Amino acid sequence: MTRIARLPEEVVEKIAAGEVIERPASIVKELIENSLDAGASSIEVVYQNGGKREIRVTDNGCGMTAEELPLSVEHHATSKIRGAEDLLTIHSFGFRGEALTSIGAVSRLRIRSRAGGESTGTEMLCEGGRRSASAEVGMSTGTSVIVEDLFFNTPARRKFLKADSREGAEILHTVRKAALAHPKVSFRVLDGARVMEDFEAVPSDQERVHAVSKADWSLDPLALQLEVQGVQVEAFLSRPQFSRVNRTGQEFFVNRRPVTAPWLSYALSRAYGETLPHGRFPMGVVFLNLESSRLDVNVHPTKREVRISGERELQNALSEAVGRAISGKDLFPKSTFSKDPMTPPFEGGGLRPESHASEERIILHPVSVSEPELNYKGTQTASSDAPDTLVTQNLNRLGVVRVLGQMRSSYILAESSEGLMLVDQHAAHERIHYEKLLQCLKGGEPQSQRLLLPETLELPPARAQTLEQSLGLLQRIGFLVEPFGDSTFVINGVPPFLHGEVVQHLEDFLDQVEEGADRLNVEEQQKALAALVACKVRSVKAGQALAPQAMLSLLETLAACESPFTCPHGRPTLIKLSFPEIEKQFGRR
Ligand code: ADP
Ligand code: MG
Repeated sequence: MTRIARLPEEVVEKIAAGEVIERPASIVKELIENSLDAGASSIEVVYQNGGKREIRVTDNGCGMTAEELPLSVEHHATSKIRGAEDLLTIHSFGFRGEALTSIGAVSRLRIRSRAGGESTGTEMLCEGGRRSASAEVGMSTGTSVIVEDLFFNTPARRKFLKADSREGAEILHTVRKAALAHPKVSFRVLDGARVMEDFEAVPSDQERVHAVSKADWSLDPLALQLEVQGVQVEAFLSRPQFSRVNRTGQEFFVNRRPVTAPWLSYALSRAYGETLPHGRFPMGVVFLNLESSRLDVNVHPTKREVRISGERELQNALSEAVGRAISGKDLFPKSTFSKDPMTPPFEGGGLRPESHASEERIILHPVSVSEPELNYKGTQTASSDAPDTLVTQNLNRLGVVRVLGQMRSSYILAESSEGLMLVDQHAAHERIHYEKLLQCLKGGEPQSQRLLLPETLELPPARAQTLEQSLGLLQRIGFLVEPFGDSTFVINGVPPFLHGEVVQHLEDFLDQVEEGADRLNVEEQQKALAALVACKVRSVKAGQALAPQAMLSLLETLAACESPFTCPHGRPTLIKLSFPEIEKQFGRR
């Protein structure tokens, strides 16, 4: 590390100024960043009373010499950049030379540091901005920053702090984010004497993601590595059977900096599409890495927000790439047997995920659904009208070797190349209908069934206008509707195998159009409409006995779907019990 020096005035003026010390967690963030910049491989955070009474961050980084130490608390003194041009390519976490100054101004700050190659360390105090003399201390190489009595000299700000438990939780969240971004650094956090987190150094991001999240989803996440528009993307995402009602399970990092990035969160939601039910969000950790010249970290005082050039293009490309990867991935939920406490979560060396035999077969490009493959005959097809010849290649995609039978007239049992597969026949059929309808909406050949007795529908003017504007869309999905005088319409045809009240369905359809019009883009609107109609079309029901040929036909058609593993509402269509799991259960492994 180069020596600490004051930044020239013209550089100071270019730096996004603002208060960085809002609460104890912001201090922890700044101190951890300093430790990381100092090349530490081990960082310990200790706090008392939610950090209000004391925060102590100790590292084994490069430390500071006795001469440097006083400079560290000076305004705009930093060892990390020298001139304005360095602002364009920032490689360190800090660069403003302001954090220690600001902390020292609102607390009793004590810094102990020993630089590599020095025989002793030095301790310095700074109280409410006033520095006192330094003294020698015995210590190992590294730095320990102790912040006591936060806001002791600004009682008004102290009042704004939340309860100790809340502030403590914020500190923990801050450390967890740092730990996610730096798996090779060990982190320990203590609330007083109580160890709250203890992350030992691990070689890979995935291992750290699991250690930090401690959640089921991260046992076997969707792990993606992509390059999108020159940006390296590494993501560990929850499979669609895991989700949350909000986005709190998502963490984003740009060049290993934690950032709040609603645009990235939105890209994820778009990518998951209908694999998740409405109002549910995936969990995951996403790392973006890009050339520092494309990144502006100098837009927010706490560097929480960053600006990336070409953000919109990146957002689109990312959601497409993640979406493609999701639709091609093996989304089979693991059977619950793997939760057996006797069963190690991962096999073979540390926390590596089980390798799937199916990984080699993963089809990364969506399979096109052509008419003969997708036998769209509703109930009849699946129950009695099974085709004589089968397009078996498709079944390979699901790994199905043969159909074994049906259970409770609701689930199809099949032998697959990897084990036993259970298919929810109703969910599977809904997925098939959904993709067919979506295809029609996107410009495919519409299918419609004429009504023997046309129905009339009278609507209030605003609603009539919505319907009039949606006639094309309706026709594509199979509703044949014509205007008949002012606000009256005649329904001549409906999508095949629609069941229930035709008028009610049309009203629901209009609700969906009105609701979506100002919020969703065209593709999302199409998906929402297809999902709506898919559950109004008669599908094979649970409890309905199926002939072997019909079961095969259903599986085949499912296999031809673009995303065969979930129903339009995000529930799984099939689950599997792998051979290794079966063998484990029988004590053969
Ligand atoms: P910045 O990180 O923006 O440079 P800070 O006020 O956070 O500003 O720190 C000022 C300087 O003090 C840093 O540039 C660095 O040289 C030194 N410093 C701070 N913390 C540490 C640490 N834990 N180990 C070694 N040096 C440190
Ligand atoms: Mg700093």
